[in-house]
Amino acid sequence: MSATYLMPTYNRQPISFTRGAGSWLYTANDTPYLDALTGIAVCGLGHCHPKVTEAIQQQAATLVHTSNLFGIDWQERAGEALCTAAQMDSVFFANSGAEANEAALKLARLYAHNKGLKRPKVIVMEQSFHGRTLLTVSATANPKAREGFFTLDEDFIRVPFGDIEAVKTAAQNHKDICAIFVEPIQGEGGLNTAYNGFTYLEELQAECDTHGWLFMLDEVQTGNGRTGKYFAYQQSNARPDVLTTAKGLGNGFPVGACMVRGHAKDLFGAGSHGSTYGGTPLASRVVHSVYEVLSNSDIMENSVREGQFIRDSITSELQQYGISSRGAGTMMGIVLPETMDCSQLVDLARDEAQLIINVTGGHIIRLLPPLNISRNESEQVVERLVKLLTPALQGLHR
Ligand SMILES: *Cc1c(COP(=O)(O)O)cnc(C)c1O
Repeated sequence: MSATYLMPTYNRQPISFTRGAGSWLYTANDTPYLDALTGIAVCGLGHCHPKVTEAIQQQAATLVHTSNLFGIDWQERAGEALCTAAQMDSVFFANSGAEANEAALKLARLYAHNKGLKRPKVIVMEQSFHGRTLLTVSATANPKAREGFFTLDEDFIRVPFGDIEAVKTAAQNHKDICAIFVEPIQGEGGLNTAYNGFTYLEELQAECDTHGWLFMLDEVQTGNGRTGKYFAYQQSNARPDVLTTAKGLGNGFPVGACMVRGHAKDLFGAGSHGSTYGGTPLASRVVHSVYEVLSNSDIMENSVREGQFIRDSITSELQQYGISSRGAGTMMGIVLPETMDCSQLVDLARDEAQLIINVTGGHIIRLLPPLNISRNESEQVVERLVKLLTPALQGLHR
């Protein structure tokens, strides 16, 4: 087969997989690849987790879709589960991260409208990624994603990530700000953590409280246990008004969620937002099954333990080359020297080490293995990466 009939929106790697199980992907001839990317932070419970597979199979044979014109028992159950885990009041189910974020940004605009603001602006960050719909790509920093789309730039104010003074300055210069929208750890934009970690979220919330803005978190990637807590913000004392998630939420089944509390709670009413597919019995049952696995196991502790093991092992084995690491749980960045040419790393890892990784920001290896990765598999990630990186790093220091 060829990709002739597919729009060329992706530079695809010259490989495809036919089967997955846990931390492993298999090609048609059954060659195993260790997956330290999990479909870009999606399959947090590993490929084809038995509980999720069972939920999909049973619900597919029972009832797939009725539309939101009717009560949906599984949607109510998934909603209660998710809001309990997230400490939020209510949820709108969408089908992707971008859609969940679109709902969040619409909430911010409605909030501004109700306050009588004329041209409301949302504060977003440099290096942010929020999705590909028109409004979410406008909130996104990456010029490549924005170019040519007449993005809605006037609706956003962009400040450096981690810089609370820049937010204070923006507050002085603009009277029509209605919200801050931020990722607790920036995923696509280089695995950036704020210099003061999650305390940054508390500082941002304080600004929101002072000025009456909505505090909105994009946990599309950091949610569902990825950083070691159910939601990353729970590592701080901050509390968002709006919280979005997707990626790990369905372990590969497409689903997103926008949750609200506090000021944001009563903004949407009947008819003000919607989705034909959002929260189908099938999607909702999958969400519920992921919740059951996450909340009834030590999988998040495992994510913290193994993430720390992988980071510590790699940085200590490559200590002489000044490698550092950042992130939380199994959302990890291995920071290589800026002078290193990393353009071939993804291909080399795949072809020579049967290891699936990603490189972001030019020189940062992005590792997003399953939360339930075993110690043996963690050791293999370390071993394969160290073997691959050593000659390149030696070359740099020659
Ligand atoms: C992936 C991602 C999105 C977009 O999610 P889609 O499901 O691709 O629409 C939005 N925000 C963050 C932080 C993401 O990582």
